[in-house]
Amino acid sequence: MTQFVDVASMTRWIQREGVEQIMSGMVRYLESDFARWERFDKIPRVASHTPFGVIELMPTSDHEEYSFKYVNGHPFNPARGYQTVTAFGMLADVDNGYPTFLAEMTLLTALRTAATSAMVARHLARPDSETMAMIGAGSQAEFQALGFRAVLGIEKLRVYDVDPAAVEKLRRNLEPLGFSIVAAVSTEEAVEGADIITTCTADKAKNTILAAEHVRPGVHLNAVGGDCPGKTELAAEVFTAGRVFVEYPEQTRIEGEIQQMAPDFPVVEFWQVLTGQAEGRLSREEITIFDSVGFAIADFSALRYLRDATAGTDLQAHLDLIADPEDPKDLFSLVNSMKPVG
Ligand code: NAD
Repeated sequence: MTQFVDVASMTRWIQREGVEQIMSGMVRYLESDFARWERFDKIPRVASHTPFGVIELMPTSDHEEYSFKYVNGHPFNPARGYQTVTAFGMLADVDNGYPTFLAEMTLLTALRTAATSAMVARHLARPDSETMAMIGAGSQAEFQALGFRAVLGIEKLRVYDVDPAAVEKLRRNLEPLGFSIVAAVSTEEAVEGADIITTCTADKAKNTILAAEHVRPGVHLNAVGGDCPGKTELAAEVFTAGRVFVEYPEQTRIEGEIQQMAPDFPVVEFWQVLTGQAEGRLSREEITIFDSVGFAIADFSALRYLRDATAGTDLQAHLDLIADPEDPKDLFSLVNSMKPVG
């Protein structure tokens, strides 16, 4: 039987544990998988583009377990009453190829994206960082804020979104949890005095949400929203002002902010910072930039964490997903009670 966590169970798990507790646990799984990066199968995700958005499959394996995620990105969806990003995914046993665990991943993707951002920032942002500017206050935003509080202790937010209702929603959700929130009227105002800047907007266009003059020395930039060909948030000059850290260069060069740069533009693979093979922040003044697109190994970690954290609880259901006859060579036995025709 395949174990299954649906949306209702995922919601109950998050409410029971708390987002920040989950973020801390998930970061441990992410760090342990990123530290053994070379053991994984890696390919850029398989994308099917349309004028409305993209549908992607994200597979990976450490040769013991295999995972994939199905995810979409449709920036015009909220105006039609749908989410921009939805997802589900599964783990399978490499030994016999059977799926072992299936889960909703719309909420899990928001958790894993924020946990990955926070993990990277813990290694790259100045340790005394206190204030984060957030450009874009959509579905991912609260998760990003809670991830950064769980991992870096950030409680002061300066938020800008072209849609004032999105900022009000964020304030409504986060102020009761103890965040101090300044609603800014522009990107310029939001980034004033910020130690960390998170850009997390959705638009199927090459935008300039952030120009080079917005990024002061010493800032860590967490660029989350540009994750698809033709969909970027930052001016190209931002990248020459600092060092750029990525998940998997082969995918990021296609989808990330650095699609704007030459194919050999220098980047640091973040896993190498974790393992000590590359240097993280070099000085208080350095600008560090995480060009996040979301990579399959983070989904692998998130699925493993969810599976392990909910194992043996009422949050997992058995799913009758695989036809598995007693005689493995007699698949027809499952249907042989059918009446002969005629
Ligand atoms: P969403 O549609 O819920 O929210 C996006 C917000 O951005 C909206 O509130 C919108 O008003 C705002 N916005 C758009 N243009 C803006 C601008 N010029 N200035 C300020 N605000 C602007 O989307 P979401 O689910 O929160 O996702 C945000 C982005 O993150 C998407 O582009 C998505 O594809 C991406 N994403 C990346 C990862 C990753 O791993 N890197 C994971 C999940 C989602």
